[in-house]
Amino acid sequence: MMKYFCMSCGIEYEPNVQRIKCDCGNALWVKAKNLLTRSDLVLTDFSIWRYAKAYPLKREDISISFNESITPLATARIGKSSILVKMDSLMPTGSFKDRGAAMVVNYLANQGISRISEDSSGNGGSAYAGYAAKGGLKCDIYVPRGTSLGKTAQTKAYGANCIEVDGTREDVAMAAINSASNLNTSYVGHNWHPLFIEGVKSIAYELWEQCGYAAPDNFVVPTGNGSLLAAAFLGFSELLRAGEIHKIPRLFGIQSKAVNPFVQYFNTGKISLAPTHTMAEGIRITRSSRLVEIDKFVRSSSGRFIDVSEIEISAALKEMSEQGFFIEPTSATAFAGIRKLIENGDIHSSEKTVGVITGNGLKATEKLIGLLNLNTGV
Ligand SMILES: *Cc1c(COP(=O)(O)O)cnc(C)c1O
Ligand SMILES: [Zn+2]
Repeated sequence: MMKYFCMSCGIEYEPNVQRIKCDCGNALWVKAKNLLTRSDLVLTDFSIWRYAKAYPLKREDISISFNESITPLATARIGKSSILVKMDSLMPTGSFKDRGAAMVVNYLANQGISRISEDSSGNGGSAYAGYAAKGGLKCDIYVPRGTSLGKTAQTKAYGANCIEVDGTREDVAMAAINSASNLNTSYVGHNWHPLFIEGVKSIAYELWEQCGYAAPDNFVVPTGNGSLLAAAFLGFSELLRAGEIHKIPRLFGIQSKAVNPFVQYFNTGKISLAPTHTMAEGIRITRSSRLVEIDKFVRSSSGRFIDVSEIEISAALKEMSEQGFFIEPTSATAFAGIRKLIENGDIHSSEKTVGVITGNGLKATEKLIGLLNLNTGV
């Protein structure tokens, strides 16, 4: 059976639907079970469940699914360099969060949970609301009061309740957690739920296949809580242990200069923030629930964290749009980061570098009109 464990104090737990963190306050992780090898691929399945052997849930336990397909790995140019672009903007609700929501919602539904609660006003909320709708679960998404309708429209369209909460981001999370004291409700907070990262690991397996059963050299993502970095590290590490790849990619987490706790922690071991506005709203997280662990993962991959300015983010947004990629401003952070890493010599043009489009531009049309100067009056 699946076990949870804490990387900070080492304690193990039998999972239950209410257990979301360690008694010491740190995040929990799922203990790796089976290593996936090429012969384990379910070749007739073109969805994330093709890698079922690597997950804590069995294929036959998955009933809530869009048969979410393997997302395209396209090519693009950053300056004069050619890179690979993983288009998670094409996931069912338009962001990579679907990978994690798919795993969490199936696990909870199998445990008899009929109602989930989450704190988010962005892509985590839409992902959970979409999967809850598909599976017939009720869904409560707690948002900070004043969150714009544009951000919650998708969540509401899926039939979720959006509950506005006064106070800080932490107050909103507490409201969601408290609501889950009811027996058939479970708090699924995407930054905490251990199974969320298990689902996001699918991106590593897809890239392994798409790169010809090898790891790319570099994996570059916008970083908020760091779930995508953690999942890539664990997925590729498992493939390495299984003998399927020879090295794991160097992992690079890109933050906005406006909110850059990982960059500070990586460089100085300390965090002192005075957050300012950023268009990268999906990564405005002042302290990751998995900060210490993810910092270690990135170091051990020989990667690093860097930050980029608002001007660099909007330039990357434009550069990607003009090549046919309609992406969220948050996602543009990754491509601004790639440009900088190439300029710094951290990444070489000859290497295989993957940038992830974490969210679809259609989610942020109103903001993109201003950012890309599309208001031409025509
Ligand atoms: C959630 C999100 C991120 C950040 O993901 P983490 O894994 O938490 O760092 C990046 N981009 C978009 C579009 C997101 O929704
Ligand atoms: Zn602990």
